[in-house]
Formats: sequence, structure tokens, C-alpha cells
Amino acid sequence: MFGEIKGLNEECGVFGIWGHVDAAQITYYGLHSLQHRGQEGAGIVVTDREKLSIHKGMGLVNDVFNQDILDRLKGTGAIGHTRYTTAGASDFVNCQPLQFNSQSGSLALAHNGNIVNATALKHQLEYQGSIFQTTSDTEVIAHLMKRSGYPDLKDSLKNALTMVKGAYALVCLVEDKMFVALDPNGLRPLSIGKLGDAYVVSSETCAFDIIGATFEREVQPGELITIDDDGLHIDVFSPSTKRTICSMEYVYFARPDSDVEQINVHYARKNLGKQLAKEAPIEADVVTGVPDSSISAAIGFAEETGIPYELGLIKNRYINRTFIQPSQALREQGVKMKLSAVRGVVAGKRVVMIDDSIVRGTTSRRIVGLLREAGATEVHVRISSPPIINPCFYGIDTSTKGELIASVKTTEEIREEMGADSLTYLSVEGLKTGIGRPDTTENCGQCLACFTGQYPTEIYPETDHPYDKVLGGK
Ligand code: SF4
Repeated sequence: MFGEIKGLNEECGVFGIWGHVDAAQITYYGLHSLQHRGQEGAGIVVTDREKLSIHKGMGLVNDVFNQDILDRLKGTGAIGHTRYTTAGASDFVNCQPLQFNSQSGSLALAHNGNIVNATALKHQLEYQGSIFQTTSDTEVIAHLMKRSGYPDLKDSLKNALTMVKGAYALVCLVEDKMFVALDPNGLRPLSIGKLGDAYVVSSETCAFDIIGATFEREVQPGELITIDDDGLHIDVFSPSTKRTICSMEYVYFARPDSDVEQINVHYARKNLGKQLAKEAPIEADVVTGVPDSSISAAIGFAEETGIPYELGLIKNRYINRTFIQPSQALREQGVKMKLSAVRGVVAGKRVVMIDDSIVRGTTSRRIVGLLREAGATEVHVRISSPPIINPCFYGIDTSTKGELIASVKTTEEIREEMGADSLTYLSVEGLKTGIGRPDTTENCGQCLACFTGQYPTEIYPETDHPYDKVLGGK
């Protein structure tokens, strides 16, 4: 959970399975492998074909579920969610999946991403009489479905999806089927696999390896897929689609053992490190990476330059949210819990420290300090992504523009503030080359908005309620 101190937080992970007797248990394992995408809450909804059953709570997947709970969640279809709050307050009521019951049946929804026009839609729906139970943007989809007037559930979901804008990798469960949908820009990853005869859906392919499933296909932007006992039924809810997958999935968020659009994340990061070495070489004795997400890039930098890669920084793995943090006084005495520099590796050495990104700059400053205290004679910081100068509206909590250090300070000012001997970021072109997507469009089919400010969708400021645009308005 180093991301928490870095100030760059992933939004959520979703998982689903259809046609397996141990649906809840498999979903639990799936959520475990998606834990890095959200640690605030977790939930599972199962169907036994007659009714939905739910269990969710705040905390890590392990804290929320035990064997008794999983045994009670009987059914052959399930969806699950790990949550990090980017829209709505961080409390139990916003934990997903969200379940809704009505005379016509029950419905459970979970999504990864952020609906950028949720506030506007919510205002309009409330104006029309809807009462919201949560502050989560996911609930908007359920209300739009209910209000659509379509008797067929798929049609009502399709209609709702044409109204919501932004990023959403969505799983939806009813008694006798599951729906899976991806926004028209495909901003978040979502894949389908097979486990025997059962279908599985996951934000990341690492979940397939853990449960022994095989990868089948990516969900394509604008697709609405129904999974039931007759198999997979592919439908399209948006004819106008343009893949702009989040670049930061490759740089930082996804697990290195996942493939995002068939590119392995570890190799993508390694190539970013190689690219960085070509753009910003330096004479040094060792290369080290900030664990865990920057290690692949550090290996790539070392390979390209011939400078040996060493484990110069160690992360303490056993700190969780219940850990008693050292007081300010103890911190001043040098009690450092999350990360340590390895004195035997860095003392007397010129160190290249690879990090994947800088958000507020406080973490980088601390790490440079750790390396110097451990005896490094020089610390050269190399960042395997371009400067983050714009906030993300698609479910990544990158803070406001004013909190992003690269948007208010020059690279030289940041270098000085963090106490490094040199600091260089990867270029936007280098990022595209390093990830190496086969897409030949200008953006290579990826979102680069936090580096370039070119957002792939319309952005709806919180204060603006463009009812006319989204609902045909009153
Ligand atoms: S703005 Fe940045 S973090 Fe957000 S989706 Fe785009 S690339 Fe990813």
C-alpha cells in the first residue's frame, strides 16, 4: 500500500464468475489478487438462481470474509469488488457491490472507474423523484435503469450506459444472468476468462492465473456482454468507441503479472526503464527501484546502461491499516516503518533511484533522504513516466492540480526540494514507445491526460449540471 503515502491511488477492482458451484469462494480468491486496486472495502453478491445474497464490509478482503461467511454465500454466479474511494464517501454504505431489490427482482452492481457526469445525473434524477441511498456514482446506473421504462433488463442497462460518461468497467448480477460492460473509451482494463465450463471476468488477468482460469478475450470498449447458462452473448451499446486505456495501469497500478491488452505489465515497465536510460543516462555505481512498482523499470534501466541493479530499498510488507503508526516524536528519532534503505548496498555509492511517478513529491523526498542517511554519495532520481500535471477524472485519485508538484514547480525546483543530485522524467513519446502498444493512432490508444491535459471524454465540473446534455433536460 505504498501508493497510499505516494498520493496516487487506484480506484477499484471487479471480479465475476458464472456457472461454478463455488462461485463465492472463487470470487474471494479473485478479489484477493485484485487487493492492490483497493483496500478500503470489499464485497461479494451471489445468486442461487432464485435470490441474491450479499456480504460486504470495510477493510481488506481477508478482514471482510471468513470461511463461515463464504459458506453462507451459496450460488453458482457471483460478482465481487475491492474498493478505494474516488467518488462518494469512504464508508460502509458505499461499499460495493450495491444491491437493489424491487418487485421485478434484485440487481447488484459493481464498477471500476469514475462516472464523470454522475453529479449532473444525480441532480436530475433527484429532481425527478429518485432518492439515493449512497453517495457512490454506481447508484446512478441503477436509477437510470429503473427509470428507463424498458421491460427488458438488458435494454434498460443499455439505455443507462448511453447516458453515463467517463470510465466504467462494470459487472452486474441478477438472478439468472450476469452483465459485463466497458465504457466507450475502454479506460479501465476488463478481461474474460474460462474456468472449466464457467466464465470469469476480472479487472486484471492476474486473477485468472491464481484461480487456474485461462484468458479468453478483453471486453472491448462499448460492449455489453450477457453471460448466462447458454454462454456469452455480445452486444454493443455505443457505436462510437475509441480505446484510450489508462497509461498509468502500465506504469503503476496493474500487477506486474497481469497482461493489459495483451502486453505484460512487467515487460512494459522494464521497457519504460530502458527508454528512460536512453533519454537520461548517468554515471553511477548502482541502480535501485522503489518497491514494488518501480522494480521492473529499475531492472530495465540497469540492463540498458550496464550499471548493476541492486536491492537498495526494502519495503516492510507487514504493515496494514491496524498497525500502530509511530508518533511524530518517534519518527523524529528515526523510526521508519514503511521503507528502509539497505546500507550495505548504497553506502559510498552513486545511486540511481528509479521511481514510477511523482505526485506530491513528499515520498520522493523521504526516499532520497533515506538513501543519503544510509551513506549514498550521490542520488540521481529517474522517473519512468512524464510529470503528472493534471488531475485524473477517471477514477484515479491524483489530487487536485494545485497538489500536483509538477504543475506548480519546475523540475529543477523539485530536484532541489527533494535533495537529489539530478532528476529526469521520461518523455510522453518515451512513455508511448516504452509501453509499445501496437495501436498506430497519435495516443497509441491510451489516455495520457494527466501528462498532457488532453482528456479523451468531455469533463463535467462538479459545479456544472448540464442536464440538457445528458437527459434531454427539462
Ligand atoms: S488521466 Fe492519467 S491516471 Fe487518469 S485515466 Fe488518464 S492516464 Fe490514467
